[in-house]
Amino acid sequence: MTRGKGRFFSDNLGEIASGRPNLGQYVPVSIYRMMQYTIRDVLSLEYGEDLARKIIYKAGKLAGEKFCREYLDTSLDFTSFVTELKNLLIEMKIGILRIEELDLENMNLVLTIAEDLDCSGLPVTEETVCVYDEGFIAGILKAYTGQDFIVKEVDCWASGDTVCRFHISQ
Ligand SMILES: [Zn+2]
Repeated sequence: MTRGKGRFFSDNLGEIASGRPNLGQYVPVSIYRMMQYTIRDVLSLEYGEDLARKIIYKAGKLAGEKFCREYLDTSLDFTSFVTELKNLLIEMKIGILRIEELDLENMNLVLTIAEDLDCSGLPVTEETVCVYDEGFIAGILKAYTGQDFIVKEVDCWASGDTVCRFHISQ
C-alpha cells in the first residue's frame, strides 16, 4: 500500500463476487447510511461542520470521477451520456435522476434525484444533507468534461422536499 496517496486509486474495491460468494454485494440502505452519517458526525465533532462538509464533498467528488471512468462511456454525447447515467443510477439503486433544466451553452443544469440513497425518508431538519451527492455529481461531470463544476443542493428530503434538487454551474 502506498502511504499518503490514498488507497482508492492505488487499489480497487475488491473481487466482491468471489470474496462474498454467499452474502453477495448488497447491504441494507440503513447500514450504508449508518456508515456515512457516523463518519460525518465524527468529522463534524473533530473539525467543525464547514470542514466536515468540504471533506465529504471532496470524497464524493473522488468517487464520482472514479464511478464515471469505471462505469460510463465518456465518448457519448451529453444526452446519451445522461441517459446511460440515469439507467445506471437506477440499476445500482442509487436514485432516480431527472434533468429539470438544461442550458448546454452555459453549462447550467438543474437536476433532481428521487428516492435518493443518502436522504430519502430522513427526518426533516430544514437543511440539505446530500453534500456527498453534490461532490459525486461534480466528480462525474469532471470526468466527463474535464472541467470543474459547482454543484449545490437546494432542496432535499431533509429540508422538507420529496426529491433532492441540485443546481449545477461552472
Ligand atoms: Zn438530499
